[in-house]
Amino acid sequence: MADWLIVGAGFTGATLAERIAKRLGQSVHILDQRPHLGGNAYDYLNSAGIRVHKYGPHLFHTNSKKIWDYVQAFSKWTPYTHHVLAKIDQNLAPVPFNFNTIEALLPASQAQALIARLETHFPKDARIAVLSLRQHEDAQLRAFGDFVYEKLFAHYTMKQWGLSPDELAASVTARVPVLMGRDNRYFQDRYQALPADGYTSMFENMLRHPKIKLSLNVDYHSLAKSELAPKIIYTGPIDRYFDYCFGPLPYRSLNFVEEITTGAPQAAGTINYPGKEPFTRVTEMTLLTGAVGDRLTRIREFPQAHLPGVNEPYYPIPRAETAALYQKYAALARKTKGTYFCGRLANYRYYNMDQAIAAALTLFQRRILRGG
Ligand code: FAD
Ligand code: UDP
Repeated sequence: MADWLIVGAGFTGATLAERIAKRLGQSVHILDQRPHLGGNAYDYLNSAGIRVHKYGPHLFHTNSKKIWDYVQAFSKWTPYTHHVLAKIDQNLAPVPFNFNTIEALLPASQAQALIARLETHFPKDARIAVLSLRQHEDAQLRAFGDFVYEKLFAHYTMKQWGLSPDELAASVTARVPVLMGRDNRYFQDRYQALPADGYTSMFENMLRHPKIKLSLNVDYHSLAKSELAPKIIYTGPIDRYFDYCFGPLPYRSLNFVEEITTGAPQAAGTINYPGKEPFTRVTEMTLLTGAVGDRLTRIREFPQAHLPGVNEPYYPIPRAETAALYQKYAALARKTKGTYFCGRLANYRYYNMDQAIAAALTLFQRRILRGG
């Protein structure tokens, strides 16, 4: 039996496994119910030889030098700046919504007047959440907020979540702010890159250690008591761990449809569809991970309700009701001695990859290293 059992071989589990093995010299058995490691960041070469992110596009971006330095140990990194266009009224316009987007959608004189007004009210490159723009004291800026909301956020959000922006925590739509400038990059973070040989290879490097054993296709809940370890880290859905005793936490799922094609690549890494189409976005993997011959691979994302046991719980749904339900489970988790709960599903937090790594490193430094 290993010193530690880690449930889930995504970023959270892999970070903790390698820290425990390397820093503490203790043995780790890490398992995943899926047939591969990497969690939602898993990638593979498809039949056209193109590296595809199986669970949708994964762009690594962070402002944290600590996290950027940490990931250097496991991969070489290729600088990659993600660009997104949205199909709005037959135009392809940059996202986040910025001055270039305004010019792409409005007649020149109207666009210039609006940009001038925005420049008098906001500092250059300010990041303003669309929901707060809709509340602005200036009526013309409120009208602009309504325009952005209708064109970019209302339908996309309803498709993605089955809820309107107002029914979600404001932080959800604030992830893609209105930018008061001309920066067309999807992320403004200081470090933006993709692992040169893919995420799967990076995970293999993280877990390559004599004290780490990886088992795939194993569901934690099917293990016998004798197969458990004295200390456990659980990175799966927290409600499932406690047998849904307070009722299921809602998650949102997606269906990813991969299309291999030829011809010209689409005009940006991702094109968002904030209109009536049943899908939200299409990503040209070739523009992210490199071309092979003349073949292209696109991933189209169709949002759907999450049904436990039927599809994957990709997104926690941030809103007041779910936060209250999560807190009930978190209180039980705090009382579960010898088991740590960490990660996007176990903490029910809308973490990006860098945030998942940061939470895992914090757990390691503040509690595991101190034996707490
Ligand atoms: P996960 O990756 O979900 O790993 C948890 C693992 O636990 C899974 O492999 C699961 O199979 C396993 N597990 C669960 N229950 C059990 C059980 N009972 N027994 C055994 N194993 C179990 N982040 C970014 O920074 N940039 C992006 O561009 C980005 N794009 C994304 C796009 C999509 C469509 C999605 C869904 C997420 C995206 N993310 C992105 C977020 C990123 O995927 C997460 O931050 C990261 O994967 C979290 O890692 P984790 O280890 O906490 O969870
Ligand atoms: N969003 C939107 N229109 C867009 C892009 C984003 O309405 O063109 C909203 C939507 O609610 C989405 C959220 O902003 O879920 C966060 O977008 P992000 O691209 O960060 O989502 P993720 O990559 O995590 O799926």
